[in-house]
Amino acid sequence: MRLTVLGTGTARPVSDTPASGILVQTATTNVLFDIGSGVASKLEGVLEATQLSGLVVGHYHADHWVDIAPLRYRFPWGEPPATPLPVYLPPARARDQVDRLALAIGEREGFFDIAFAITPYQSGVPFRIGDLTITPHPVGHYIPAWTMDIRADDGTRVVYGGDMGPSDMVVDLARGADLLILEATLESALIDDARRGHLSAEEAIDHVSRAGVPRALLVHYASERRKQIAALCAASGLPVEPAVSLLSIEVGAATGAADQETVRTG
Ligand SMILES: [Zn+2]
Ligand SMILES: [Zn+2]
Repeated sequence: MRLTVLGTGTARPVSDTPASGILVQTATTNVLFDIGSGVASKLEGVLEATQLSGLVVGHYHADHWVDIAPLRYRFPWGEPPATPLPVYLPPARARDQVDRLALAIGEREGFFDIAFAITPYQSGVPFRIGDLTITPHPVGHYIPAWTMDIRADDGTRVVYGGDMGPSDMVVDLARGADLLILEATLESALIDDARRGHLSAEEAIDHVSRAGVPRALLVHYASERRKQIAALCAASGLPVEPAVSLLSIEVGAATGAADQETVRTG
């Protein structure tokens, strides 16, 4: 499995990375997880959007889904494409979210439905895209949000946390996975709401430690904190690091990871 981090940013725009977006590829399947602001453009440097097998959105904050709007313009305008792009959305009022976004950008009703086959997923219910089996699990955030358990048919498994407060469930879920991707939004856990919705880098590293995964990446952090987060990761002695935009790695036992890591250009 090849995994490319398209964006490591938060909701705030920065020059060096888009917001959230993770591209997972196998020999036959290309799935984009989250399409935050800037991700649709960044994707074009790696893979043409029309080559996607599917899109999965973890929650409805702009930094995780708003670029579904520009993505739509990569597909035929008036007539349906040969194969509509499978799009899996959070179940919370999915129809309203899509209709209102079309209206908000000055498009007609059904704008997204011509090009996309939209399916609201359900908590704990696996769905298939190509040779990937994806199971969404609810996590604590300021709005309903889901962590994705991503399993390839060759057994390779990635857990992509998305936006979340501390979660023993995600620690348990990640045990035995090949890769864990967690957010590291907060400079300090003390500045979060009482009902937690994000992780500090220290908390994310603690999750990595408890899950015992062979590799972990931190995303969704303020770019100016990258060096500080990298130092925290190094001090932990764990196989965890802050990802950067276009970091691309091989995941799974089928390939040696270390010698195939690149930061893609484009
Ligand atoms: Zn969010
Ligand atoms: Zn976010």
